[in-house]
Amino acid sequence: MLPYGRQSIDESDVAAVTAALHSDWLTTGPEVDRFEAAIAERAGVEHAVSVTSGTSALHVAYAAAGIEPGDEIVTTPLTFVATAATAALLGAKVVFADVDPATGNLDPAAAEAAVTDRTKVVSGVDFAGVPVDGAAFRDLAERKGILFLEDAAHSIGSTQDGRPVGSLADLTTFSFFPTKNLTTAEGGAVVTADADLAARARSFKNHGLVRDKAQQRYPEEGPWHQEVHAFGLNYRLPDVLSALGTNQLARLDAFVARRAEVKAAYDEALADLEGVQLPAAPEGAAPAWHLYPLRVPAERRREIFESLRAQGIGVQVNYIPAYWHPVFEDLGYQRGMCPVAEDYYSREISLPMFPGLTDENVEQVITAVRTAVAG
Ligand SMILES: *Cc1c(COP(=O)(O)O)cnc(C)c1O
Repeated sequence: MLPYGRQSIDESDVAAVTAALHSDWLTTGPEVDRFEAAIAERAGVEHAVSVTSGTSALHVAYAAAGIEPGDEIVTTPLTFVATAATAALLGAKVVFADVDPATGNLDPAAAEAAVTDRTKVVSGVDFAGVPVDGAAFRDLAERKGILFLEDAAHSIGSTQDGRPVGSLADLTTFSFFPTKNLTTAEGGAVVTADADLAARARSFKNHGLVRDKAQQRYPEEGPWHQEVHAFGLNYRLPDVLSALGTNQLARLDAFVARRAEVKAAYDEALADLEGVQLPAAPEGAAPAWHLYPLRVPAERRREIFESLRAQGIGVQVNYIPAYWHPVFEDLGYQRGMCPVAEDYYSREISLPMFPGLTDENVEQVITAVRTAVAG
Protein backbone atom coordinates (compact mmCIF):
# COMPACT_ATOMS: atom_id res chain seq x y z
CA MET A 1 0.00 0.00 0.00
CA LEU A 2 1.38 3.42 -0.98
CA PRO A 3 1.10 5.48 2.24
CA TYR A 4 -0.43 8.99 2.37
CA GLY A 5 2.70 10.32 4.07
CA ARG A 6 6.16 9.03 4.79
CA GLN A 7 9.50 10.24 6.12
CA SER A 8 12.54 10.66 3.89
CA ILE A 9 15.69 9.32 5.59
CA ASP A 10 18.98 9.25 3.70
CA GLU A 11 22.58 8.38 4.56
CA SER A 12 23.29 11.93 5.77
CA ASP A 13 20.51 11.55 8.35
CA VAL A 14 21.91 8.20 9.48
CA ALA A 15 25.41 9.71 9.77
CA ALA A 16 24.10 12.64 11.86
CA VAL A 17 22.33 10.31 14.30
CA THR A 18 25.32 7.96 14.49
CA ALA A 19 27.66 10.84 15.30
CA ALA A 20 25.33 11.99 18.07
CA LEU A 21 25.18 8.46 19.49
CA HIS A 22 28.99 8.37 19.64
CA SER A 23 29.16 11.75 21.42
CA ASP A 24 29.08 12.42 25.18
CA TRP A 25 25.37 13.30 25.19
CA LEU A 26 22.24 11.35 24.48
CA THR A 27 19.78 13.93 25.69
CA THR A 28 20.26 17.66 26.45
CA GLY A 29 23.59 18.60 24.84
CA PRO A 30 25.05 20.69 22.01
CA GLU A 31 22.82 19.18 19.28
CA VAL A 32 19.73 20.59 21.01
CA ASP A 33 21.20 24.11 20.86
CA ARG A 34 22.22 23.66 17.22
CA PHE A 35 18.76 22.44 16.22
CA GLU A 36 17.00 25.22 18.10
CA ALA A 37 19.22 27.85 16.48
CA ALA A 38 18.53 26.37 13.03
CA ILE A 39 14.76 26.24 13.63
CA ALA A 40 14.71 29.85 14.89
CA GLU A 41 16.63 30.99 11.82
CA ARG A 42 14.30 29.13 9.47
CA ALA A 43 11.26 30.55 11.26
CA GLY A 44 12.68 34.09 11.11
CA VAL A 45 12.42 34.71 14.87
CA GLU A 46 14.77 34.92 17.83
CA HIS A 47 13.57 32.00 19.94
CA ALA A 48 12.95 28.30 19.33
CA VAL A 49 12.19 25.83 22.11
CA SER A 50 12.43 22.19 21.06
CA VAL A 51 10.05 19.67 22.61
CA THR A 52 9.06 16.02 22.30
CA SER A 53 6.11 16.36 19.88
CA GLY A 54 3.74 18.74 18.14
CA THR A 55 1.28 17.99 20.92
CA SER A 56 3.74 18.96 23.65
CA ALA A 57 4.58 22.08 21.61
CA LEU A 58 0.91 23.09 21.79
CA HIS A 59 0.74 22.28 25.53
CA VAL A 60 3.90 24.34 26.14
CA ALA A 61 2.62 27.23 23.99
CA TYR A 62 -0.71 27.43 25.84
CA ALA A 63 1.12 27.22 29.18
CA ALA A 64 3.45 30.03 28.06
CA ALA A 65 0.38 32.05 27.08
CA GLY A 66 -0.81 31.65 30.67
CA ILE A 67 -3.92 29.59 29.90
CA GLU A 68 -5.73 28.61 33.10
CA PRO A 69 -9.18 27.44 34.17
CA GLY A 70 -11.85 29.95 33.16
CA ASP A 71 -9.98 31.12 30.07
CA GLU A 72 -11.26 30.54 26.57
CA ILE A 73 -9.43 29.77 23.36
CA VAL A 74 -10.93 30.07 19.88
CA THR A 75 -9.84 27.53 17.30
CA THR A 76 -10.77 25.53 14.21
CA PRO A 77 -12.53 22.16 14.27
CA LEU A 78 -10.71 21.08 11.08
CA THR A 79 -7.60 19.88 12.88
CA PHE A 80 -6.04 17.05 14.81
CA VAL A 81 -7.65 17.01 18.25
CA ALA A 82 -4.40 18.03 19.99
CA THR A 83 -4.87 21.69 18.95
CA ALA A 84 -7.91 21.79 21.26
CA ALA A 85 -7.09 19.03 23.77
CA THR A 86 -3.92 20.67 25.07
CA ALA A 87 -5.80 23.89 25.93
CA ALA A 88 -8.63 21.89 27.52
CA LEU A 89 -6.08 20.06 29.70
CA LEU A 90 -4.99 23.44 31.11
CA GLY A 91 -8.61 24.17 32.01
CA ALA A 92 -9.59 26.32 29.05
CA LYS A 93 -12.99 26.27 27.42
CA VAL A 94 -12.48 25.53 23.72
CA VAL A 95 -14.67 27.61 21.40
CA PHE A 96 -14.79 26.34 17.82
CA ALA A 97 -15.24 28.80 14.97
CA ASP A 98 -15.86 27.89 11.35
CA VAL A 99 -13.40 27.72 8.47
CA ASP A 100 -12.94 29.33 5.08
CA PRO A 101 -14.43 27.00 2.44
CA ALA A 102 -11.54 27.62 0.00
CA THR A 103 -8.65 26.64 2.29
CA GLY A 104 -10.20 24.90 5.30
CA ASN A 105 -8.36 27.40 7.51
CA LEU A 106 -9.95 29.19 10.47
CA ASP A 107 -12.01 32.12 9.13
CA PRO A 108 -10.88 35.37 10.82
CA ALA A 109 -14.43 36.81 10.84
CA ALA A 110 -15.88 33.65 12.40
CA ALA A 111 -13.06 33.62 14.95
CA GLU A 112 -13.70 37.27 15.82
CA ALA A 113 -17.40 36.57 16.39
CA ALA A 114 -16.42 33.82 18.86
CA VAL A 115 -14.10 36.03 20.95
CA THR A 116 -15.42 37.01 24.41
CA ASP A 117 -13.84 38.91 27.29
CA ARG A 118 -12.54 35.56 28.56
CA THR A 119 -10.67 34.70 25.34
CA LYS A 120 -6.90 34.58 25.77
CA VAL A 121 -5.70 32.90 22.57
CA VAL A 122 -6.91 32.43 19.00
CA SER A 123 -5.32 29.34 17.43
CA GLY A 124 -5.25 28.86 13.67
CA VAL A 125 -4.02 25.73 11.92
CA ASP A 126 -2.17 25.91 8.58
CA PHE A 127 -4.30 23.17 7.03
CA ALA A 128 -2.40 21.10 4.42
CA GLY A 129 0.47 23.61 4.64
CA VAL A 130 -1.44 26.73 3.60
CA PRO A 131 -0.71 29.53 6.10
CA VAL A 132 -3.69 31.03 7.93
CA ASP A 133 -4.45 34.69 7.24
CA GLY A 134 -1.70 35.97 9.52
CA ALA A 135 -2.37 39.67 8.91
CA ALA A 136 -6.05 39.29 9.88
CA PHE A 137 -5.28 37.26 13.03
CA ARG A 138 -2.47 39.62 14.02
CA ASP A 139 -4.90 42.54 13.72
CA LEU A 140 -7.63 40.64 15.63
CA ALA A 141 -5.20 39.70 18.42
CA GLU A 142 -3.98 43.28 18.77
CA ARG A 143 -7.48 44.77 18.84
CA LYS A 144 -8.72 42.26 21.43
CA GLY A 145 -5.54 42.11 23.53
CA ILE A 146 -5.16 38.36 23.03
CA LEU A 147 -2.42 36.12 21.62
CA PHE A 148 -2.37 34.61 18.14
CA LEU A 149 -1.08 31.01 18.06
CA GLU A 150 -0.35 29.26 14.77
CA ASP A 151 -0.40 25.45 14.83
CA ALA A 152 2.08 24.96 12.00
CA ALA A 153 2.32 21.17 12.30
CA HIS A 154 1.72 21.07 8.52
CA SER A 155 3.62 24.11 7.40
CA ILE A 156 7.27 24.38 8.30
CA GLY A 157 8.79 25.60 5.03
CA SER A 158 5.69 27.56 3.95
CA THR A 159 5.79 31.32 3.44
CA GLN A 160 3.20 34.08 3.19
CA ASP A 161 4.16 37.20 1.19
CA GLY A 162 7.75 36.00 1.46
CA ARG A 163 7.66 35.71 5.25
CA PRO A 164 8.31 32.29 6.76
CA VAL A 165 5.71 30.51 8.87
CA GLY A 166 7.00 30.99 12.41
CA SER A 167 7.32 34.76 12.05
CA LEU A 168 3.60 35.48 11.55
CA ALA A 169 2.08 34.67 14.97
CA ASP A 170 2.90 35.38 18.63
CA LEU A 171 3.53 31.67 19.14
CA THR A 172 4.01 29.06 16.41
CA THR A 173 4.16 25.30 17.00
CA PHE A 174 5.76 22.68 14.76
CA SER A 175 5.51 18.86 14.70
CA PHE A 176 8.32 16.63 13.53
CA PHE A 177 6.30 13.41 13.37
CA PRO A 178 7.43 11.16 10.46
CA THR A 179 4.57 12.17 8.14
CA LYS A 180 5.23 15.91 8.64
CA ASN A 181 7.43 18.13 6.46
CA LEU A 182 10.58 17.11 8.33
CA THR A 183 11.08 14.57 11.09
CA THR A 184 12.89 13.82 14.34
CA ALA A 185 10.81 10.59 14.76
CA GLU A 186 8.83 12.25 17.56
CA GLY A 187 9.47 15.93 18.15
CA GLY A 188 8.26 19.47 17.91
CA ALA A 189 9.11 23.09 18.65
CA VAL A 190 7.60 26.36 19.79
CA VAL A 191 8.95 29.49 18.13
CA THR A 192 8.34 33.11 19.08
CA ALA A 193 9.83 36.57 18.76
CA ASP A 194 8.89 37.32 22.38
CA ALA A 195 11.59 36.68 25.00
CA ASP A 196 9.09 36.35 27.89
CA LEU A 197 6.93 33.80 26.06
CA ALA A 198 10.09 31.88 25.14
CA ALA A 199 11.31 31.87 28.76
CA ARG A 200 7.95 30.58 30.01
CA ALA A 201 7.90 27.90 27.31
CA ARG A 202 11.44 26.82 28.21
CA SER A 203 10.55 26.62 31.88
CA PHE A 204 7.36 24.56 31.34
CA LYS A 205 9.14 21.97 29.20
CA ASN A 206 11.74 21.40 31.94
CA HIS A 207 9.70 20.97 35.18
CA GLY A 208 9.58 24.74 35.81
CA LEU A 209 13.10 24.48 37.25
CA VAL A 210 14.84 27.75 38.16
CA ARG A 211 18.62 27.36 38.20
CA ASP A 212 19.58 31.04 37.84
CA LYS A 213 20.61 32.20 41.34
CA ALA A 214 19.43 35.74 40.56
CA GLN A 215 15.89 34.44 40.14
CA GLN A 216 15.80 32.01 43.08
CA ARG A 217 13.96 32.68 46.34
CA TYR A 218 16.61 30.85 48.42
CA PRO A 219 19.86 31.23 46.44
CA GLU A 220 22.00 30.67 49.58
CA GLU A 221 20.77 27.09 50.06
CA GLY A 222 23.88 25.67 48.40
CA PRO A 223 25.57 25.08 45.06
CA TRP A 224 23.23 22.14 44.33
CA HIS A 225 20.14 24.25 44.75
CA GLN A 226 17.36 24.51 42.19
CA GLU A 227 13.76 25.65 42.67
CA VAL A 228 10.38 25.16 41.06
CA HIS A 229 8.22 28.29 40.88
CA ALA A 230 5.49 26.89 38.62
CA PHE A 231 4.64 23.32 37.69
CA GLY A 232 6.03 21.96 34.47
CA LEU A 233 6.75 18.71 32.66
CA ASN A 234 9.64 16.93 30.98
CA TYR A 235 9.18 17.61 27.26
CA ARG A 236 12.91 17.71 26.40
CA LEU A 237 13.88 16.62 22.89
CA PRO A 238 17.00 14.38 23.07
CA ASP A 239 20.32 15.30 21.47
CA VAL A 240 20.17 12.23 19.20
CA LEU A 241 16.85 13.35 17.71
CA SER A 242 17.97 16.99 17.50
CA ALA A 243 20.92 15.87 15.35
CA LEU A 244 18.44 14.21 12.99
CA GLY A 245 16.34 17.38 12.98
CA THR A 246 19.24 19.67 12.03
CA ASN A 247 20.12 17.41 9.13
CA GLN A 248 16.49 17.15 8.04
CA LEU A 249 16.14 20.93 8.16
CA ALA A 250 19.04 21.21 5.70
CA ARG A 251 17.00 19.00 3.35
CA LEU A 252 13.70 20.88 3.84
CA ASP A 253 13.96 23.00 0.67
CA ALA A 254 14.37 19.86 -1.43
CA PHE A 255 11.38 18.26 0.34
CA VAL A 256 9.22 21.35 -0.29
CA ALA A 257 10.27 21.43 -3.96
CA ARG A 258 9.27 17.79 -4.50
CA ARG A 259 5.95 18.33 -2.71
CA ALA A 260 5.29 21.25 -5.09
CA GLU A 261 5.99 19.01 -8.10
CA VAL A 262 3.60 16.35 -6.84
CA LYS A 263 0.95 19.01 -6.16
CA ALA A 264 1.32 20.39 -9.69
CA ALA A 265 1.13 16.91 -11.25
CA TYR A 266 -2.07 16.04 -9.34
CA ASP A 267 -3.60 19.44 -10.19
CA GLU A 268 -2.92 19.05 -13.87
CA ALA A 269 -4.15 15.46 -14.11
CA LEU A 270 -7.30 15.86 -11.99
CA ALA A 271 -8.50 19.35 -13.00
CA ASP A 272 -11.05 18.04 -15.51
CA LEU A 273 -12.72 15.57 -13.11
CA GLU A 274 -16.42 16.29 -12.64
CA GLY A 275 -17.56 17.06 -9.08
CA VAL A 276 -14.03 17.12 -7.70
CA GLN A 277 -12.43 20.15 -6.04
CA LEU A 278 -8.66 20.63 -5.92
CA PRO A 279 -6.78 22.35 -3.07
CA ALA A 280 -5.94 26.01 -3.60
CA ALA A 281 -3.77 28.58 -1.87
CA PRO A 282 -4.60 32.27 -1.51
CA GLU A 283 -2.62 35.11 -3.10
CA GLY A 284 0.87 35.46 -1.65
CA ALA A 285 0.99 32.01 -0.05
CA ALA A 286 3.78 29.60 -0.96
CA PRO A 287 2.76 26.43 0.89
CA ALA A 288 4.96 23.47 1.68
CA TRP A 289 2.15 21.10 0.66
CA HIS A 290 1.91 18.71 3.61
CA LEU A 291 -1.35 17.15 2.41
CA TYR A 292 -3.16 17.02 -0.89
CA PRO A 293 -6.78 17.38 0.30
CA LEU A 294 -9.00 16.41 -2.60
CA ARG A 295 -12.72 17.10 -2.21
CA VAL A 296 -15.19 14.67 -3.81
CA PRO A 297 -19.00 14.57 -3.63
CA ALA A 298 -19.93 13.82 0.02
CA GLU A 299 -22.34 11.04 -0.86
CA ARG A 300 -19.54 9.24 -2.76
CA ARG A 301 -16.62 9.90 -0.37
CA ARG A 302 -16.80 6.52 1.39
CA GLU A 303 -17.02 4.60 -1.89
CA ILE A 304 -14.15 6.54 -3.52
CA PHE A 305 -12.02 6.18 -0.39
CA GLU A 306 -12.58 2.41 -0.28
CA SER A 307 -11.92 2.06 -4.00
CA LEU A 308 -8.59 3.89 -3.59
CA ARG A 309 -7.58 1.68 -0.67
CA ALA A 310 -8.56 -1.39 -2.69
CA GLN A 311 -6.30 -0.12 -5.49
CA GLY A 312 -3.35 0.08 -3.08
CA ILE A 313 -3.49 3.82 -2.47
CA GLY A 314 -3.21 4.54 1.27
CA VAL A 315 -5.49 7.57 1.39
CA GLN A 316 -6.48 9.29 4.65
CA VAL A 317 -9.22 11.66 5.80
CA ASN A 318 -8.17 14.90 7.53
CA TYR A 319 -9.95 15.62 9.84
CA ILE A 320 -13.01 14.45 11.69
CA PRO A 321 -14.30 17.77 13.16
CA ALA A 322 -12.64 18.01 16.58
CA TYR A 323 -15.91 18.53 18.47
CA TRP A 324 -17.36 15.28 17.05
CA HIS A 325 -15.00 13.37 19.33
CA PRO A 326 -17.03 11.90 22.20
CA VAL A 327 -14.88 13.76 24.72
CA PHE A 328 -16.31 17.04 23.36
CA GLU A 329 -19.76 15.59 22.67
CA ASP A 330 -19.98 14.57 26.35
CA LEU A 331 -19.25 18.20 27.28
CA GLY A 332 -22.30 19.30 25.25
CA TYR A 333 -20.71 20.21 21.91
CA GLN A 334 -23.17 19.46 19.11
CA ARG A 335 -22.83 18.49 15.50
CA GLY A 336 -23.81 21.22 13.07
CA MET A 337 -21.93 23.91 14.99
CA CYS A 338 -19.44 24.66 12.18
CA PRO A 339 -21.21 23.67 8.93
CA VAL A 340 -18.41 24.74 6.58
CA ALA A 341 -15.85 22.58 8.41
CA GLU A 342 -18.31 19.67 8.48
CA ASP A 343 -18.91 20.03 4.74
CA TYR A 344 -15.15 20.14 4.13
CA TYR A 345 -14.68 16.98 6.22
CA SER A 346 -17.57 15.17 4.49
CA ARG A 347 -15.90 15.56 1.08
CA GLU A 348 -12.20 15.28 1.98
CA ILE A 349 -9.73 12.57 0.95
CA SER A 350 -5.97 13.14 1.40
CA LEU A 351 -3.97 11.68 -1.48
CA PRO A 352 -0.40 10.41 -0.96
CA MET A 353 1.91 13.40 -0.57
CA PHE A 354 5.55 13.02 0.47
CA PRO A 355 8.94 13.77 -1.08
CA GLY A 356 9.84 10.15 -1.77
CA LEU A 357 6.94 9.68 -4.24
CA THR A 358 8.34 8.73 -7.64
CA ASP A 359 6.80 9.90 -10.92
CA GLU A 360 5.47 6.34 -11.32
CA ASN A 361 3.83 6.53 -7.87
CA VAL A 362 2.19 9.82 -8.86
CA GLU A 363 0.88 8.28 -12.11
CA GLN A 364 -0.43 5.30 -10.14
CA VAL A 365 -2.33 7.63 -7.77
CA ILE A 366 -3.77 9.65 -10.67
CA THR A 367 -4.97 6.53 -12.49
CA ALA A 368 -6.51 5.16 -9.29
CA VAL A 369 -8.33 8.44 -8.56
CA ARG A 370 -9.72 8.61 -12.10
CA THR A 371 -10.86 4.99 -11.83
CA ALA A 372 -12.45 5.52 -8.40
CA VAL A 373 -14.25 8.73 -9.43
CA ALA A 374 -15.52 7.15 -12.67
CA GLY A 375 -17.06 4.46 -10.42
C1 LIG B 1 0.44 16.20 13.79
C2 LIG B 1 -0.36 17.33 14.33
C3 LIG B 1 -0.32 17.70 15.68
C4 LIG B 1 0.38 16.88 16.72
O1 LIG B 1 1.71 16.62 16.45
P1 LIG B 1 2.43 15.31 17.08
O2 LIG B 1 3.87 15.55 16.79
O3 LIG B 1 1.86 14.13 16.37
O4 LIG B 1 2.12 15.30 18.53
C5 LIG B 1 -1.00 18.83 16.07
N1 LIG B 1 -1.72 19.56 15.20
C6 LIG B 1 -1.81 19.22 13.91
C7 LIG B 1 -2.60 20.07 12.98
C8 LIG B 1 -1.15 18.09 13.44
O5 LIG B 1 -1.26 17.74 12.14
